[in-house]
Amino acid sequence: MDDKVLRKLFSGFIHIHILHHAKEEAIFGAWMLEELREHGYTIGPGTLYPILHGMESDGLLVREDRNVDGKIRKYYSATEKGEVILREARDKAYELFKEIKD
Ligand SMILES: [Zn+2]
Repeated sequence: MDDKVLRKLFSGFIHIHILHHAKEEAIFGAWMLEELREHGYTIGPGTLYPILHGMESDGLLVREDRNVDGKIRKYYSATEKGEVILREARDKAYELFKEIKD
């Protein structure tokens, strides 16, 4: 399949994946990249960071800067709005999965 089409599709999955983890506990970029790689998404920081920033400006994530060994690391947690969106997306994803699974 066309790379552009795949990227568009996976972008939605990645957003849901980020919200899921950011709801469990605060996440940071490098950790999320590794997590996504383990799930087969080979994306780089140049793709992930704009997604995180976009989700922050859309009010889905809230950022907190923490000092880790003298370096500032940006942590993201899901907002209330993010959790609502996650629930909606999960229901829709589940509904779709049931329909296409076989
Ligand atoms: Zn995961």
